[in-house]
Amino acid sequence: MRILIVEDEIKAAQYLKEALMQSGYQAESSHDGIDGLFLAQSGTFDLIILDVMLPGIDGWSFIGRLRERSQVPVLFLTAKDAVADRVKGLELGADDYLVKPFSYAELLARVRTLLRRNPVRQQEIFELADLQVDALKRRATRGGQRIDLTNKEFALLHLLLQHKGEVMSRSQIASQVWDMNFDSDTNVVDVAIRRLRAKIDDDFTVKLIQTVRGMGYRIEDGF
Ligand code: CA
Repeated sequence: MRILIVEDEIKAAQYLKEALMQSGYQAESSHDGIDGLFLAQSGTFDLIILDVMLPGIDGWSFIGRLRERSQVPVLFLTAKDAVADRVKGLELGADDYLVKPFSYAELLARVRTLLRRNPVRQQEIFELADLQVDALKRRATRGGQRIDLTNKEFALLHLLLQHKGEVMSRSQIASQVWDMNFDSDTNVVDVAIRRLRAKIDDDFTVKLIQTVRGMGYRIEDGF
C-alpha cells in the first residue's frame, strides 16, 4: 500500500512518512500542492494524506482537481477546527479528515479504515457546464430542468461522462452501451447520439456532445 503525504511543513511530513513506513506502508512526501497533485494523479498511490494549507494550490482546489480524474481516497488534515471547513472538504470529495494536532495512533486508525474500504469508489455525480447527472438515481438535469432519458440514452451519456474529454469511437460506444460488437452497423450509435443531443444539447447554446470527424464522439464543456 502506497501513501502520499502532501504537507508543506517538512518536519511534520518527514515524521509521518517515517511513522507510516514503520507501520509497514510505503510512503512518499511532497511539500507543495502542485507537485503533490501531479503525484496524486499518477494513479500509483492507494491513499493521499493532504494538508489543507499549502503553497501553490490549496487543499480545496487540490481535491477538486484530483477528483476530476481520480477516486483515490483522501484524508485531509486541517488546522482549523471549523465545521464549515470540514464540510467543505468532504463535499469536495475528501473521504475523511483529521484536525491538527492529532495523535499518530488516530491517524493510523483512519488510514487503515480508508484503505480497507473499496479502493476504487465509483463516481456517482457528474457535472459538466449546467448538466448534472446522478448515476445512482439515474437522473439528469440541465439548467435545473429534468431530462427524461431512456435506459440506453442514459447509459450512453454516463459512458461519455466517465470518459469526459476523451474521444470514444463508435465501436467502443457500441460494445459498452449495447454490450455487442457492431463492426458494420455503427449507425445505431449515431442514431442514439442524435436522440441524446436532441434532449441535452438542442435547446442550449453551449453544446456538450461533439462529433470528432472520422473518430467518434466526445463530451466536453465549452463548445
Ligand atoms: Ca500547511
